[in-house]
Amino acid sequence: MSRRRRVFEGKAKVLYEGPEPGTLIQHFKDDTTALNNQKQATIEGKGVLNNRISEFIFSRLNEIGVPTHFIRAINMREQLIREVEIIPCEVVVRNVAAGSLSTRLGIEEGTLLPRSIIEFYYKSDELSHPMVSEEHITAFGWSTPQEIDDMMALGLRINDFLTGLFLGIGIRLVDFKIEFGRLYEGDMVRVILADEISPDSCRLWDIRTNDKLDKDRFRRDMGGLIEAYQEVARRLGILFENEPKRRGPTLVK
Ligand code: UDP
Repeated sequence: MSRRRRVFEGKAKVLYEGPEPGTLIQHFKDDTTALNNQKQATIEGKGVLNNRISEFIFSRLNEIGVPTHFIRAINMREQLIREVEIIPCEVVVRNVAAGSLSTRLGIEEGTLLPRSIIEFYYKSDELSHPMVSEEHITAFGWSTPQEIDDMMALGLRINDFLTGLFLGIGIRLVDFKIEFGRLYEGDMVRVILADEISPDSCRLWDIRTNDKLDKDRFRRDMGGLIEAYQEVARRLGILFENEPKRRGPTLVK
């Protein structure tokens, strides 16, 4: 057996060459970082949970016609994805004030925003992912105005879908970060959702208690990260690989 070729290694994931041209294998590690890599840890089991949660969400998004890179699950830590050219702009969608928005604008965490807000951040570790405007993005050629429109429209659609999905299981979707990629098909190119959607990239608060069920538990040294991610997976109905009956989300009344 030959060794797989590693195409890219990030902070929490590794990409390997896929079985066919145009495909990759996305592997979820247990590593985690925060505060621009100043804080690092390995949390056993995190990769398995994020793979499972992200796979579930991307499958549902594919089903409702949101184009994503997800093709199929491979194993507990890996999924087969389409190879795309990542657009170097992270898209953050917010429903409730938290994190950097609260710090920057002095809005108390937990304040419901008057409408969903979309922000763009330039994907550069050296620059610590600065927030940028559409002007910067188009002037520096990171993406075209059409791609920005597509990312915003898809971002809002994903937000509506996920808000409802999580609300049904007693979780408030406060905000999340997504990334998009260009998929080349012949002489056509289109924007599709890439990367992951998991408690590493979302803020998820329990509706009743406001308990944090996301990566803020690591960022803010709260402990209990795995238990929180397991709770999200459990409520989504996807905690175990070989559950006798996988019924999907359990409604919380
Ligand atoms: N986020 C992320 N990766 C990043 C920065 C942010 O996944 O590199 C997510 C984060 O989990 C949250 C949302 O994007 O759900 C908004 O994060 P924010 O700008 O408030 O930054 P933070 O407070 O995490 O530094």
